[in-house]
Amino acid sequence: MTDCLFCKIIAGDIPSDKLYEDEEIYAFRDIHPQAPVHFLVVPKKHISCPAEIGGDDEQLIGRLIRIAGHIAEKEGIEHYRLVFNNGEGAGQTVFHVHLHVLGGRAMTWPPG
Ligand code: AMP
Ligand code: ZN
Repeated sequence: MTDCLFCKIIAGDIPSDKLYEDEEIYAFRDIHPQAPVHFLVVPKKHISCPAEIGGDDEQLIGRLIRIAGHIAEKEGIEHYRLVFNNGEGAGQTVFHVHLHVLGGRAMTWPPG
């Protein structure tokens, strides 16, 4: 999608601190980290929000979570939080599905 920030990052039109890439997944560090380690794992396919994940995407999203775990391990974080924000009220600001991975500090529950 031409007007999407993360599609532009995936295409290389906007620079990012890349951690991982394969044919269907891209991961990079969050520009405003909320923890010592904070990165985003993104499907290359433009899906606007978690609610728009379709049945055909189940394998993709499962793999995305698995890869998030592998990157977390490489980053040396044993305990971490995985977050999908869905909709503005939940804090979603970029409307291209992305999994936040946050670690390297103690987490509180519930999140604010
Ligand atoms: P969300 O608020 O869940 O939609 O998450 C969007 C995330 O994208 C935020 O944590 C932002 O800090 C992050 N972000 C925005 N622009 C960039 C960028 N150019 N490079 C890396 N992360 C970004
Ligand atoms: Zn997009």
